[in-house]
Amino acid sequence: MSGQPLASVADHAARIAQLLPRTAVERRALSEARGLALAHDVVARVTLPPFDNSSMDGFAVAAADIGALPVELVVSQDIPAGVDPQPLQPGTAARIMTGAPVPPGADSIVPVEQTSGRGTDGSVVGTTVRLHSVSSAGQFIRRRGSDVTEGDVVLPAGTVLTAAPIGLLAAIGVADVQVHRPLSVLVLSTGSELVAPGEPLRPGQIYESNGPMLAAALAETGAVATLAHFVADDVPAFLDALGTAVAGAANPIDLIVTSGGVSAGAFEVVKQALADRGVSFTRVAMQPGMPQGSGRITLDTPDDSSREIPVVTLPGNPVSSFVSFEVFLRPAIRAAQGFSAAAQHRPKAALPLAEPLTSVPGKAQFRRATRAAGTVRAHGGASSHLLAALAHSDSLIEIPADVTDLPAGAEVTVWDLSGT
Ligand code: AMP
Ligand code: MG
Repeated sequence: MSGQPLASVADHAARIAQLLPRTAVERRALSEARGLALAHDVVARVTLPPFDNSSMDGFAVAAADIGALPVELVVSQDIPAGVDPQPLQPGTAARIMTGAPVPPGADSIVPVEQTSGRGTDGSVVGTTVRLHSVSSAGQFIRRRGSDVTEGDVVLPAGTVLTAAPIGLLAAIGVADVQVHRPLSVLVLSTGSELVAPGEPLRPGQIYESNGPMLAAALAETGAVATLAHFVADDVPAFLDALGTAVAGAANPIDLIVTSGGVSAGAFEVVKQALADRGVSFTRVAMQPGMPQGSGRITLDTPDDSSREIPVVTLPGNPVSSFVSFEVFLRPAIRAAQGFSAAAQHRPKAALPLAEPLTSVPGKAQFRRATRAAGTVRAHGGASSHLLAALAHSDSLIEIPADVTDLPAGAEVTVWDLSGT
């Protein structure tokens, strides 16, 4: 296989994307829909604001009633938020709270700070208030429909339900939404050297970090991750763990993601176990993350013996695993979950390099980096074990396969990793 030409990043990305069809649509309560994508456009069934209301605590008046200032008016009603007010009696003021409906006949709100009415608790109906200034007609009134008009498409299909869209949906009275269900993903790490965090380390051992990292990355894409206990480099143990984890998962598994055991060494358990079970192993022209694999496998599980499950095998080096996830899996999973095209990919920008960089010929390089003062600076070297440098980075610098030398100030493509 080492004699075969390397696959391009784009070709492998297309392959992974093809593995994951769009997920089914389901109805969910708004409170259960965070991080998922709307399956349909949402049309407002109400107008926002539904009525003209005050943007200040103060006094509602008819501007035409006000002559020379200051002026003293009788307070004819109290209008707290939530009431349906009487029309304003001509020549009077109505005390009004923020968000309360502007009474018919009033066209101006005088903020309490511009009156003698500050600090009064309880009803003030029948007393007088002195107004020091009157704003022009219409000021401090939030007009009906100034935000949303009934019949508007307020959120298009593909919108990811983060806090602000959820707020808008609640504001237009939506209690549940149709969303694409999240992918259910099993993560299985391999390596005889691996030890669970919290256990003592013996010589030659390292802590298992890819599993927790990939499970977290999956959760950030909106997927539901099940982290299987990692396995040693042993084919029967690997297949047994895979079958047991898939059969025992709370949600039917849509995708299996493995890490480790796919490169050119002597004990490549994932390759040995899956090469003749429907997974193709490829070398991709990228650094880190050259050894990759993908396909569909049929697992002999007692309850669901004939189902084919997509598999993506990521390389074991932690930074390779992370970058491979970012480049291949994250966009494919988000597309499958119905995210809009813009939300499938990390935001990208062209930024000048703070320092020169070199890259390998013939491979796209993804360097971990930090943005500051309008420039970007690579963190640590290109080596794929540098997890601390990755953890301190907020960006990836993407260097095309045919670029090897970049001077300081050269513009590079920067992926913004800081969002979820
Ligand atoms: P492999 O792809 O299995 O040959 O692993 C490549 C490198 O990544 C080796 O140094 C492994 O020890 C390391 N590695 C593999 N899997 C993990 C993991 N789950 N957590 C931490 N390091 C790992
Ligand atoms: Mg290994």
